[in-house]
Amino acid sequence: MNLEKLRKEVSGLCTVKTKFTCDSRLSRICPAYIINQGLSSYKILILNSLSNEETIQVEAHELAHLLLAHLNPGLISFTPKGTRPIDWLKEAVNNTISHKTIIDILLTDYNISSDVHLAGLSSSINGISKQIEKCYCLPDLIKVRLGVILFDIERTLPNSEVEVARVSSMNSRVREALVASRNHLSLISTKMERAAQYQEVRNFIESIWCKPEPLFS
Ligand SMILES: [Zn+2]
Repeated sequence: MNLEKLRKEVSGLCTVKTKFTCDSRLSRICPAYIINQGLSSYKILILNSLSNEETIQVEAHELAHLLLAHLNPGLISFTPKGTRPIDWLKEAVNNTISHKTIIDILLTDYNISSDVHLAGLSSSINGISKQIEKCYCLPDLIKVRLGVILFDIERTLPNSEVEVARVSSMNSRVREALVASRNHLSLISTKMERAAQYQEVRNFIESIWCKPEPLFS
């Protein structure tokens, strides 16, 4: 494993501080998150009850998000500005665009596996299924978000296709968002210029709402 190499590369692009905590927003499904402090300065909060191996994987995953966000072209990401449904959708799009690349580069370039991340995804399917069961009262943006997350799971978690198909078939709007993600978000890669990546997200948005989503910027 080569976490030190990754830390060094990311620290050449931005400032990162890591804090180990039992913050209530953290769990084994979501063992870390990044706080953007502005001026290319970030704090990574990591659940403090993980094993050494798990902690390495979790820190590496978050560092890889920052690496891709700061490389050029790297991968585009949107900045959630609060906790509204549109912010949760932006976060889901950011994750879905980047997770496959993150898993690949961590293994290939740094010899770090993503077992912890994949285990979290696997256990999140149940929660998604429960949310879809009460979908009739969920805002449309949340249904779309669930479809985007299901695509993230489908393309990164081995042998998840049948389960993703079952869960997405529970709600037509979730299913539409899954299909739109396959058609558009799947095309985004580090080989594309950023302008082309943004265009693909716009194509995704328009295929879902038939018009650009003004809050998505
Ligand atoms: Zn992630």
